[in-house]
Amino acid sequence: METNENIPVRLPDSRYEELKASAATMQELAGVQSYPIDSLWVAQKLGYEVHTYNKLGPEAQILARRYSEDAFILPCPKGPIDVFYPIYYNDEVVNKPRLNVSIMHECAHIFLGHPANIEMSKQQKEVEAKFLAKFILAPPIICHYYHLKDASSIRNFFNLSYEAAEYAQNYYNKWLGHSKVKNGLIHPTTTECRLLRQLNIETLSKGGIPV
Ligand SMILES: [Zn+2]
Repeated sequence: METNENIPVRLPDSRYEELKASAATMQELAGVQSYPIDSLWVAQKLGYEVHTYNKLGPEAQILARRYSEDAFILPCPKGPIDVFYPIYYNDEVVNKPRLNVSIMHECAHIFLGHPANIEMSKQQKEVEAKFLAKFILAPPIICHYYHLKDASSIRNFFNLSYEAAEYAQNYYNKWLGHSKVKNGLIHPTTTECRLLRQLNIETLSKGGIPV
């Protein structure tokens, strides 16, 4: 679930790089080969159990809706020691693009091992899941490759909510400002090459992507 606690933190740059690499690993493991990404499909490909709120009893449904409008994960015992984390989501949500981000947010928590990590603060976990979900659904290198420079083309291409598309556009602009440009070409990082390779795009042979 996404909380609105005041989030202080900017993580160290190295952690953001790790999160981007985790996004590439998630894509590779799930076998994502095109956009928009369906978060439910990714969850299933990664072997995460997924249920709708309707599966819960009537009282639990009320609690679930109160807890999160969109989605959350719940610890469930699996054998004497192990615990696993099914994702519950509200399939009655009208704003499906927003629900898609929320489900990816929960996938990110699981993928990053957050539920069992008692050393990391709740705030850091939220920052990480939020970043990973938005990054994987609309990576700036993909915006650039497909010439998606304004919020509405980003929103249409990646099937995002207005809020997520605006975030993606701002993030893309920041990314563009920091990208390594040589001879009019942007040189993708190792992680970006992995994201592009998932779409069968080989850029290194061409020396980069035009700015
Ligand atoms: Zn969360």
